[in-house]
Amino acid sequence: MKIAMMASEALPFVKTGGLADVIGALPLALEYCGQEVIVIMPRYKSITDSKFRINRISEGISFTTIGRDIKVYFIENSIYFNREGLYGDKNGDYQDNLERFAFFCRRSIDLLKEINFSADILHLHDWQSSLVPVYLRNTYFDKSFYKKMKCVLTIHNTGYQGIFDKDEFSKLGLSGDLFDINGLEFYGKVNLLKGGIVFSDLINTVSPTYAKEIQTKDFGFGLEGLLRQRKNVLSGILNGLDYSIWDPSADRFIMQNFSEQTIESKVFDKEDLQKTCGLPVNKDIPVLGMVSRLAEQKGFDIFVESLNKLCKMNLQIVILGTGDLKYHQILKTAAEKYPKVISLNLKFDDPLAHKIYAGSDVFLMPSKYEPCGLGQLISLRYGTIPLVFKTGGLADTINTKNGFLFSVYSKEELLKSVEKAVFTFKNELKWASLISNAMKCNFSWRISADKYIKLYVKAKTS
Ligand code: ADP
Repeated sequence: MKIAMMASEALPFVKTGGLADVIGALPLALEYCGQEVIVIMPRYKSITDSKFRINRISEGISFTTIGRDIKVYFIENSIYFNREGLYGDKNGDYQDNLERFAFFCRRSIDLLKEINFSADILHLHDWQSSLVPVYLRNTYFDKSFYKKMKCVLTIHNTGYQGIFDKDEFSKLGLSGDLFDINGLEFYGKVNLLKGGIVFSDLINTVSPTYAKEIQTKDFGFGLEGLLRQRKNVLSGILNGLDYSIWDPSADRFIMQNFSEQTIESKVFDKEDLQKTCGLPVNKDIPVLGMVSRLAEQKGFDIFVESLNKLCKMNLQIVILGTGDLKYHQILKTAAEKYPKVISLNLKFDDPLAHKIYAGSDVFLMPSKYEPCGLGQLISLRYGTIPLVFKTGGLADTINTKNGFLFSVYSKEELLKSVEKAVFTFKNELKWASLISNAMKCNFSWRISADKYIKLYVKAKTS
């Protein structure tokens, strides 16, 4: 099949979130499975000729190659994309985001014809490429080149929908009829993700549980009704993990490499983590690691409420993250009060993240909602036992054999779950069995790519 992946970010070029991981990895796995894939994304300022080997095709279009032979096409526009940020800067979202991504979507569709890529599937991601199906079905519908193309939309997080003032609708160049409850209108505003949901052939999200959750009021952010209407074409596929990056037996950032067979070496990484973080070195004290955005979505509201009690439990907590200033402040105060318990690292630091995944005993991820989640998949690979709230992708990947879960979102339940983990940690046999089960889990992209191929086939025959 011929697949054109259209998205606003991708590794190794730019990343603000999990979307970039997916677009960096899924095309490679699809190519490995014999599919013909191209990627189309905006060319931001940081994507320079010197950093990446980029070739020019025509005015405004350049490309590079990833994998064996996957072309990544860059849509250029000096006004819209030649900026430091992807979606905004320190003053907030860019004011012209609707125009920027409408341009991206239209230019991407035109590009297919220019390079004569008669795609079977256009795979769109999030609100930034949600206008592709809208234009395809309403503006390009009578052009034979595009007639057979099917649209698959992946929603990575319903919390971000691309909502704009109604006055901006006219900038889209669409018929006024589409500013309607059955089109892009959403409580008097323009909602781009809604347009994608209405006009795509199939919709999916990044875990089976999240696909169900977004049809409810708590997780749908206002789109639950529409998603329920479209539930026959809505499914969930877990993201994979890039095991070439996250591999404890070859990780160059950690003190001592280990595998399931040499798990006894993990203790050297724990010692190294405790030393690096200025915590007392003691293998008998369980270390709880957190690598996360400091945001309510990630469970920091109940975590900070539990901190005083947690700190009295004979454990250590290593936190790495940045985010809401409110949490920076609360955590700083707690770390000053409990310097022998909490190591607080308010920064983005990839090497330290690797050390935390390798050296911790428990990985704490009490997210209030989690479309898929990467942290728990990484920690499983490193024999670090996840402790999670049972939601979204966390519910689909963690169970009582490889981790700890709590199913009522409250500080009391979080504390109970930590108590249980600390208690179990003392039982060497039980802990070894948890580690062994965790390290045997396989969330490789190959498995997810197979599921995407089935989804594409379904779209093609729909
Ligand atoms: P998100 O909702 O933020 O995308 P995920 O769990 O899906 O959450 O992915 C987050 C990724 O970013 C993980 O790979 C995690 O290790 C990494 N990460 C988050 N915060 C930091 C940080 N401060 N330093 C290094 N890596 C981080």
